[in-house]
Formats: sequence, structure tokens, C-alpha cells
Amino acid sequence: MAKHHPSNDFLMEHAAGSLPVAQAACVAAHLSYCERCRRTHDQLQTVGGAMLERLEPVAVSEALLDTVLSRLEDPAPLTYSGQTEASELPGLLQRLINKDFGQLVWKRVTRALSVSYLSTGDKSYEFALLRIAAGGRIPEHTHGGSEMTLVLEGGFSDGRDSYHPGDFIFRSGDDTHAPVALDGEDCICLTVLDAPLRFTSWQHRWLNPFLKLRAS
Ligand SMILES: [Zn+2]
Repeated sequence: MAKHHPSNDFLMEHAAGSLPVAQAACVAAHLSYCERCRRTHDQLQTVGGAMLERLEPVAVSEALLDTVLSRLEDPAPLTYSGQTEASELPGLLQRLINKDFGQLVWKRVTRALSVSYLSTGDKSYEFALLRIAAGGRIPEHTHGGSEMTLVLEGGFSDGRDSYHPGDFIFRSGDDTHAPVALDGEDCICLTVLDAPLRFTSWQHRWLNPFLKLRAS
């Protein structure tokens, strides 16, 4: 059972369908592991729906109304929000949850770390799988932005805690960490980034100019 969960803010935004699609996919993947968050998410959706129905009509400026109406007409590129059943998730997510990692193209970054970039159609977020070799360490790094992680297979430790399949971790930009994969099994994580990694140790800093956000 997952020990690390998305915040209620994330569950709320996901229930409202307002998370960027790449982040929504990561939260949806956690929901497929976690009954507790699924229940919270469903309650938030019910409450949100009821609140919308009860809203009294108020005078709004025409400009605001136009903005709201135009947003309602925005086609969603990929709809992950609202689903609770794994069978309703888009195929890619379904494969990841089923640990079907065949046919992925892995790029080696360091001896212990490989990356497979995936596409969600969201150009602002990199959506990728990291594979850390059993016992391997990702050099200490930080991010210019946020990092969402969901463990799919194996596990890792960051010195504060250890993380296992289904665990969801969110780090903001100024967090520095050096995850180490647990022994015995390669660790495969889904990560959603809005800025590239920045290695902080002098041995690895030279790599930084090569690390670009691969969002597609
Ligand atoms: Zn949860």
C-alpha cells in the first residue's frame, strides 16, 4: 500500500480537471494504486459538482463571462481527469501501471541512470521514466522547477525516507536530493518535470548544459 500520497490540493485540482495533463496522468496513476486517495478524489468531485449546482447567479462582468465561456470551449487534449477505473485510462498509462516496459527506448545518462522520454502532448512538462540500477545512485541534483515522481517498480531512498511502488512524491524547485535505488531490483519511476535537472556536485556539473527539458 502506498505511504506517500498527493496533497489534497492536487487531488482537488485533479477532481476539477484543472491539472496540466502530464501531472494529471501521474496523479491518475497514483489513484490506480491507492484506494484512500481514490475515495477522497471521488468525494471532492461530488462536492465540487454540488457546489457548482448551488451557485447563485451573480452579476458578472461581460469580460469575465467571455473568459469563462471560452475556457469551457477549450478542447481537452487528453482527458485523464475524473476516471477512477484503470480500464478507462489511456493506453500509455495503462501500460505503465501494468509494468509493460517493453519497446521503450532507454537513453543512458550515467552508469546507474537511464531515461525513457514519453509523450503526453503537453509541451510544458517532461514526462519520462527513470530507471535506476539496483543500488545505483543519481548524483545530487536540484531542479529549476517542480518534480512529480511515482514509483512503478523497485524502490528508492532519499535519506529522509524510502519509496515503493505507488508512492507519490512532489518536490519544488529548491529541493536538493540524491536518490539511491534499493538493492535487489532496478527502480523504475515515472517523473513529471517542468524544468531540467541541475546536478550540484562538481563531478557532474559539466553535464548540465546537456540536460534539456524533453517535453512533447
Ligand atoms: Zn494515495
